[in-house]
Amino acid sequence: MIRIGDVEISRIEEIVVLEASSVFSLWRKEMADTPHLALGPNYYDRSADGFVTSVHSWLVKTPQQMILIDTGSGNGKDRPLSPRFANMNTPYLERLKAAGAEPSDIDLVILTHLHIDHVGWNTQVVDGKNVPTFPNATYIMSRAEREVRDPKLGASMKPPAANLPFLDSVQPIIDAGKARIVEGTEQIAEGIDLMPVPGHAPGMMAVRVKSGGEEALFIGDVMHQPIQVYHPSWNSKYCEDQDLARVTRTKILNYAADTGCLLLPVHFGAPYCGRVKRNGDGYEFVPSDTMP
Ligand SMILES: [Zn+2]
Repeated sequence: MIRIGDVEISRIEEIVVLEASSVFSLWRKEMADTPHLALGPNYYDRSADGFVTSVHSWLVKTPQQMILIDTGSGNGKDRPLSPRFANMNTPYLERLKAAGAEPSDIDLVILTHLHIDHVGWNTQVVDGKNVPTFPNATYIMSRAEREVRDPKLGASMKPPAANLPFLDSVQPIIDAGKARIVEGTEQIAEGIDLMPVPGHAPGMMAVRVKSGGEEALFIGDVMHQPIQVYHPSWNSKYCEDQDLARVTRTKILNYAADTGCLLLPVHFGAPYCGRVKRNGDGYEFVPSDTMP
């Protein structure tokens, strides 16, 4: 657990997998020959030429609220296009409980974006129906992203199975009246606000938490791997607007270097978060010395 002022931050693991290095089109295997922090064993598996990729949620406990940021891939989901997220069966909810939160304790779920690995635990199947996993939560999602994913608003992903994460994990939240659709700039609670970080996904939002003079910034998928701190122009193959993703990444790296805030992404390997400092014309990653 990491403390930022009065706020406690825990990481709720879903899975840790190896992602083929082809996730970065500019990666060359020879680069692994140079010793580099971002290619340490927690981040890169040399023998498999793959990047260690965690999928997790962040649990944020303030004195007033329990907030869950992103909800992983979910159990038992039909994912014909993404076998690694299909019909998963992980003890995610047990891990949430071990971190001190029952599903009914969650007041807010904030979805940085609506990709398959960020919305899954929004719902679970009960009596054959997708129902909200966190029955007392308001789920915050961005208007821009909802509009490009919601078939009822004319959105249509291709092939049709690409609509499934929205249909089984987001639509039921909207239908249950539990969604709060935001622009991505709102103040959510005292010391907590949203920051637009579009590019990887059209309406992606970062969540900024300030307490006791400290700051944490939950950045969704602005970066997938620490290697991108050193190569801010590197996009993953999952970035939807490649140019905008680069602009946003540089903006966030500058912000992190200027403020000294703790950056909490969704896919870095252990210790899963860290800070950024300037190094010449570029940036350097400083992994957290505390494990969340
Ligand atoms: Zn992701």
